[in-house]
Amino acid sequence: MEKVIIIGSGCAGLTAAIYTARANLEPVVLTGALPGGLLTTTSIVENYPGFANGIDGTALMMEMQQQAERFGAKIRFGSTVESIDFAGQPLKLTVDGGEMETQTVIIASGAGHRHLGLESEAKLEKKGVTYCATCDGALPMFRNQPLVVVGGGDSACEEATYLTRFASKVYLVHRRDELRASKIMAERTLANDKIEPVWHSEVTEVLDVAQDKVTGVKVRDNPSGEESTLDCAGLFIAIGHVPNTQLFRGVIDMNDAGYILPKRGQETNVAGVFVAGDCSDHVYRQAVTAAGQGCAAAIDAERFLAALEQ
Ligand code: NAP
Repeated sequence: MEKVIIIGSGCAGLTAAIYTARANLEPVVLTGALPGGLLTTTSIVENYPGFANGIDGTALMMEMQQQAERFGAKIRFGSTVESIDFAGQPLKLTVDGGEMETQTVIIASGAGHRHLGLESEAKLEKKGVTYCATCDGALPMFRNQPLVVVGGGDSACEEATYLTRFASKVYLVHRRDELRASKIMAERTLANDKIEPVWHSEVTEVLDVAQDKVTGVKVRDNPSGEESTLDCAGLFIAIGHVPNTQLFRGVIDMNDAGYILPKRGQETNVAGVFVAGDCSDHVYRQAVTAAGQGCAAAIDAERFLAALEQ
């Protein structure tokens, strides 16, 4: 039986792994399908303390992973949890078809990209529709072509700015006329000559004109209701995230949007189960706050285990 199983390998999960490993609890980290989490899909991280010149997202996560491994964390790459039985001690999880038992679980399953919910969006995913500029922006199909980014937050601004390296032009389609992004990011984006904001507008359809790849998008101007077409080779959707918590629905307390609600500190409503990072935090959602919560969850788990032994 394990002492600690950590579900997820983003900033929250790997920080929890560093702390529980240093407490000699030999944590097992189930990385899920995206080892390192969403930060590996970002470019340079400029606001993680300790890196005066910024650090590449993937490099930061690899450092955290190696740091956790150095203290004895066992990383299971690609492992995902299929089902849970948290009815009592030991806690049980079905992982890659086999059963695992553990005294504590730290849920750090993060969040995935929110979709627009259009039929044409699903049909053209990976054929010009994408959720990650850093992953896909450099593909030949997008080079020297007009591209569309949807969203008004830091992610959309970051993606639009990044894409100007490859695109002939980037349209930034936002449903309001004011960006949600931080001031510095918004100013940098709007000052970029290659970015054209398309205010109070929404993408209503992705067009492929029978070519099985994106050739444009239909955009509705919200005040007038009028629709127009923007020719483009790619649609980059950056409209926020949805917590990866489906598995825990009905067992772990969460709000209507699926964000896990901790009870006290990082404890959930189930004894021995703790939570950290984007799967429970819809307010701060920063790498450094996720890491902080991962640390707190690890300390909570350590104290729980110490109390079990008494
Ligand atoms: P976000 O801040 O939640 O912004 C989502 C954006 O998408 C908003 O502008 C929202 O419009 C728009 N949106 C949501 N649903 C939509 C829909 N169905 N159709 C059209 N537009 C829609 O998400 P984010 O940009 O991913 O950022 C998440 C967090 O990560 C934030 O805390 C951010 O600061 C942080 N982050 C930081 C950095 C950095 O510092 N380097 C980089 C990326 C992200 P409204 O504005 O109208 O609501």
